[in-house]
Amino acid sequence: MKMVRNRCLQCLQPLNANASWEALFSWRQKNLCDTCQGKLRPLKAPWCLYCSRPLARTESCADCRRWERTRHWSGLLVRNVSLFSYDDYLQELISIYKYRGDVALARVFTEPLKQTYLKDFKGAIPVPIPLSEERLLERGFNQAAVLAEQLPVAYNACLARVVDEDKQSKQSRRGRLRGHARPFSFQGGAARVAGKHMLLIDDIYTTGTTLRKAAIPLLEQGAKQVSALTVARG
Ligand SMILES: [Zn+2]
Ligand SMILES: [Zn+2]
Repeated sequence: MKMVRNRCLQCLQPLNANASWEALFSWRQKNLCDTCQGKLRPLKAPWCLYCSRPLARTESCADCRRWERTRHWSGLLVRNVSLFSYDDYLQELISIYKYRGDVALARVFTEPLKQTYLKDFKGAIPVPIPLSEERLLERGFNQAAVLAEQLPVAYNACLARVVDEDKQSKQSRRGRLRGHARPFSFQGGAARVAGKHMLLIDDIYTTGTTLRKAAIPLLEQGAKQVSALTVARG
């Protein structure tokens, strides 16, 4: 029998007895008390169809239209779906998770990540946004990889952070000045990517630049398309 967690991962208040019984008999395990759960604001329509930004009506937002108008950036990312609005509460929750290393907090997002995956990205191969080696050593875990672990299919860690500055210097200075530096490289067999729908996983979508840069090596390896699933929409 699985051990039932009986304290809220956020405020450490005991979860009520009913919740524990519910957890025993159902797949839906509670990780947060009702109060803490209620503070999360799920994103839903009306929103931007391409980045989950709340809008007055469902369409594409000005930023997404701009991405697609710019030759260098257009067509890199099909869509980003974010689960929750990045307000003060979620910001605190994510920083506890990331910087205090409270990995168990990732379980708060297990159900919504799973449901969104099945609803919007079924069949896609998750790819966590990698951390640099230095960050990984300092933090001890990659928060994006732990989020990807919550999905019902195995993830593919086929991206790496580019550490070699010499590689960057091969690019034109102009390209770098325009923000076209390449922070990610592909690692592993191309066969695992060619013709596939790849799904980038990260904690926060802010401007969308990082995710688009991460999509480039995947598309170069022949990925059919690249989408993104993120916990928060900044
Ligand atoms: Zn709580
Ligand atoms: Zn948008």
